[in-house]
Amino acid sequence: MANLRQAQIKKGKKYVYRFGGGKADGNESMKNLLGGKGANLAEMAGHPALRLPVPPGFTCTTEVCTYYYDNKRTYPKELKAQVEAALANVESLMGKKFGDPADPLLVSVRSGARRSMPGMMDTVLNIGLNDVTVKGLIKMTGNERFAYDAYRRLIMMYADVVMEKAEGIEPKGGKGIRKQLDERLEEVKKAKGVKLDTDLTAGDLKKLVVEFKKIVKEVLGKPFPDDPQQQLWGGIGAVFMSWNGKRAVDYRRIEKIPDEWGTAVNVQSMVFGNMGNDSATGVAFTRNPGNGEHYFYGEYLVNAQGEDVVAGIRTPSPINNGSKNDHSKNLPTLEKIMPKIYKELFNIQLRLEKHYRDMQDIEFTIEKGTLYMLQCRVGKRNGVAAVRIATDMFAEKLITAPEALNRVQPNQLVELLLPMIDPKAESTTKPIAKGLPAGPGGAKGRAVFTSEEAVAWAARGEKVILVREETSPEDVDGMHKAQAILTSKGGMTSHAALVARGWGKCCVVGCEGLDVGAKSATTKSGQVINEGDWITLNGTKGLVYMGEMALVDIDLEHNPSYGILMKLCDKYRKLNIRTNADTPKDTAKAIEFGAEGIGLFRTEHMFYGEGSDKPLFLLRKMIMSKNKAERINALAELAVFVKKDIKATMETLNGLPITIRLIDPPLHEFVPHSEDRLEALAKDLGVDVAEVKKRGESLKENNPMLGHRGVRLGVTYPEVSEMQIRAILEAAGELVKAGKKAYPEIMIPVTCTVNELNDQKQLVDKVYAEVRAKLGIKKIPFMFGTMIEIPRAALTAGKMAETAEFFSFGTNDLTQMGFGFSRDDIGSFLPDYLTNKILPADPFQTIDQEGIGELIKIGIQRGRKTRKKLKIGICGEHGGDPESVVFCHQIGMDYVSCSPFRVPIARLAAAQAALKTN
Ligand code: PEP
Ligand code: MG
Repeated sequence: MANLRQAQIKKGKKYVYRFGGGKADGNESMKNLLGGKGANLAEMAGHPALRLPVPPGFTCTTEVCTYYYDNKRTYPKELKAQVEAALANVESLMGKKFGDPADPLLVSVRSGARRSMPGMMDTVLNIGLNDVTVKGLIKMTGNERFAYDAYRRLIMMYADVVMEKAEGIEPKGGKGIRKQLDERLEEVKKAKGVKLDTDLTAGDLKKLVVEFKKIVKEVLGKPFPDDPQQQLWGGIGAVFMSWNGKRAVDYRRIEKIPDEWGTAVNVQSMVFGNMGNDSATGVAFTRNPGNGEHYFYGEYLVNAQGEDVVAGIRTPSPINNGSKNDHSKNLPTLEKIMPKIYKELFNIQLRLEKHYRDMQDIEFTIEKGTLYMLQCRVGKRNGVAAVRIATDMFAEKLITAPEALNRVQPNQLVELLLPMIDPKAESTTKPIAKGLPAGPGGAKGRAVFTSEEAVAWAARGEKVILVREETSPEDVDGMHKAQAILTSKGGMTSHAALVARGWGKCCVVGCEGLDVGAKSATTKSGQVINEGDWITLNGTKGLVYMGEMALVDIDLEHNPSYGILMKLCDKYRKLNIRTNADTPKDTAKAIEFGAEGIGLFRTEHMFYGEGSDKPLFLLRKMIMSKNKAERINALAELAVFVKKDIKATMETLNGLPITIRLIDPPLHEFVPHSEDRLEALAKDLGVDVAEVKKRGESLKENNPMLGHRGVRLGVTYPEVSEMQIRAILEAAGELVKAGKKAYPEIMIPVTCTVNELNDQKQLVDKVYAEVRAKLGIKKIPFMFGTMIEIPRAALTAGKMAETAEFFSFGTNDLTQMGFGFSRDDIGSFLPDYLTNKILPADPFQTIDQEGIGELIKIGIQRGRKTRKKLKIGICGEHGGDPESVVFCHQIGMDYVSCSPFRVPIARLAAAQAALKTN
């Protein structure tokens, strides 16, 4: 041991880890150092329970990559000797020598970061071939065609990855060297009248090698290197360079992978799946990644190299009957044509899954009847498969319940809850525009540009998508009738986003560069969407497609795995989950999804959309009242509707709590904007148009979001609060009297001082006494509380809690007022903030823990200091964001509240949060 350590100190830091021959220096736990691929190769090759047939090789660590970038693109001094020693080890295991003219060892060089970045970085195969060694390869394999094919592939990949991309050469006319060589290959095929690469003879390929080299020299100004050592180091350097290539950098931004991680480089001896009909290459999964079924699933190609599978020129064959699809149903299975190898592969996959205790994605190659394992990793899967695999593995006792819960990402549940674009169709279609993913799922419809058109088209039975610059409450009818909503402005808590999310409707907002007109819209690139054109939206990713794409519907009732997962969530989570809903229908849906009450009932909903004509008219009548007496009369008429509405939702809840917020928006929002609508209102009210206009004008504000709204309305017009309080208490009281259950929580919005609360509380006390007397009952259970959505309210929470029995954090407004970012206008600058890393994420989507989170923590701490049992929740949009739910759990909230469709997501996120803290 001591000797080994001393030897190591002498050799310096270890930068190279070997694997092969039943041994490995590293293992699966060393992903940070060896990258995912390197760590798994080591595990497969060296773990005593596996020791699988892995072609030997070695991994240069991610630390080399970090060193490379920290030290002006140079390597640590120890690297060269360590690579040489590791290569010598591979040579001895393979019984071949690198660069040997008689029997050359060939290697591949591949990237491998901590997390897989599919197709983002580069690979070079067949390194070690030149005009001399190719002869040795021919002699050893007796297959001239194969050898020259391998050689021309090396030249192609090397010229592309090492000589062009890594050197940062911008191809002239946009046509890279690979494309140019490919075109030459196609010309040769055409001249010979053949279709497939495999139809070219040894002679054709030999000539092609000479031509390829000539083209490389001409185009890139340098010859393709003959020296195998130069090829090897060129390949290693190119992989490190590719870490900072555009594709990799863009991918890291999207996936939030830190730049500092770096990539490892894997050098591995080549095995060939293209040495004849007893050779093959393939990809398989230990379970079906598309639906989670417990079935060995995969594809293979006879006489091919891995890149042929990826290139998609030949249709891969199914490995077994269960893997057949429409394209491959008549092709022979591996099980049929190579039964012994299939059995060996089948047993290996069983061992791999048992060992890793998760679904594995494996790559294999068969060289002249011998099976080799080239890669294994945890397989990517869609949401449906994730739920099925997690719950099945739990039932099989392969994993524990907490592990099963952590195997599903909360947002993956969206795929089980909403229709989405057929992934196959989406993978082959280019989006025409991109915005923010405001309402998940997929939708298709014909474009319309006004709410009125949406209603009219929908009435004719047409499916429409409402396209607007932005939406306002006046558009709600059309929004409701539309399949989806697309806006060019606005952020994640803009009107369109909030409304769509509440309904579980697909929605893309802030589609920058989309110029929306009255009858058409034009994208940045000039694509025109005319009225009536079909478009398809992916609201989960914020993508817009031209045309009508297929959607896939998912059926929860027939998904027992979903039910099992939800039960497990409820066993582990500590947070209660409520919903933001304001109709009996939405409430029933939310309860079906597992909601345990309503965390936000926005009273004003009843003035928008379906069935709102009468209450909206009465509200407008109230707004237009000239004096208090008139106002009280109008309110009395309105009260009937308010009470009916609240009572219906309370009945659906059957005793589950309901937080009812008194009217929040500024009154001006309810006044018609257009001239003709104002005239119509004047006529309906029987007053002068000028009078109505004057009143409308007088309500206009410069900053309505900071203006006369929320509790401020209740202070100015106590009768407006009083009417609502009475409606709530009478609705609850009548239910209680009838032997039913009701539990309202009266919530005052937009407060900043306890005095506002005290002011409104007096009204509550007065009305409570009156309602009890009127109904002749002793008690109506209810609570009185407030939203915390103004920074001052959070800071003075100790005082607020003297009167408030509960707090509900309105993180939409708290974020707006904490940052000073308008929630409706953030779309115009947010993309720059994200690209320039000024903000890590959209703060209206995920709670900014550093700033807004501090305000919430202070609010909770100070509030509970005054009132130990203060009930605390959140009802801003963040209540359905998994990362924010974890935060809410950690800081001790009692519940989160989110739109009905996010309830299952919040249940899972809450369970994961509880597991994290334990
Ligand atoms: C909030 O501000 O977080 C909130 C829930 O209220 P609204 O979005 O209705 O302003
Ligand atoms: Mg608010």
